[in-house]
Amino acid sequence: MRFDIFSLFPSVFSPYFEVSILQKAIEKNLIEVNVHNIRDWTMDRHHITDDTPYGGGGGMVMKAEPIFTAVEDVLGQPPSCPVILMSPQGRPFTHKIAEELAQLPQIAIVCGRYEGVDERVRQHLITDQLSIGDFVITGGELPALMVVDAVSRFIPDVLGDPTGAVDDSFASGLLEYPHYTRPEEFRGWRVPDVLLSGHHAKIIEWRREQALQRTFQQRPDLLKNYPLTEKDKKFLSELNKKS
Ligand code: SAM
Repeated sequence: MRFDIFSLFPSVFSPYFEVSILQKAIEKNLIEVNVHNIRDWTMDRHHITDDTPYGGGGGMVMKAEPIFTAVEDVLGQPPSCPVILMSPQGRPFTHKIAEELAQLPQIAIVCGRYEGVDERVRQHLITDQLSIGDFVITGGELPALMVVDAVSRFIPDVLGDPTGAVDDSFASGLLEYPHYTRPEEFRGWRVPDVLLSGHHAKIIEWRREQALQRTFQQRPDLLKNYPLTEKDKKFLSELNKKS
């Protein structure tokens, strides 16, 4: 899968892509990430990419022309793939959206800065807007990295352990169960006996209950549309009585 990222600060990206799973995915050509500096498409001698807002007020606005020119130069006119704007005003980015995007051969991501992009970019170039949460940060680079990372995890062979994502939070509709590793005891806190028992069926049952319990406690909204079994319902009603 190919990602084309358009940013005013391309140097933000390379450290993240030079480590761990995404580095390996790039080396194995499972993903291709091209980061484009929007400033390279400015026409004026000062390479200006932003200007003051019409109507007054503080802050600067990213100019439409360098963004249009950059995206159309790289992706054609009209662009050959979805062009996503990272924006706090976008639809909330989720596990499901990441999975859907991973089915595509290519996506482009535009990173805003300052007050954001000239509205005509959003109206006439952008095909989708994604938000990473109900808060505002200074630029779209971190959000873009999050999208590339989350989407890449769905591309076959990117994760070293292909079963690793199956139980991940949200994959099944629940939060994931807790994990422990060596030592068996740390500062007097022991690993739950069931995990040391070697009893596979009991471990599966314990993990299921733990996933239900933490979803119930941390994200009860996820349970609303979750297809609970009778056993799940009984377990949750017991939990409810105790809480
Ligand atoms: N003035 C804008 C508003 O109130 O909607 C916020 C602009 S923000 C300071 C600058 C850029 O950071 C945005 O254009 C966007 O690319 C990125 N950004 C900030 N918060 C974000 C979020 N929660 N999700 C995605 N992108 C975000």
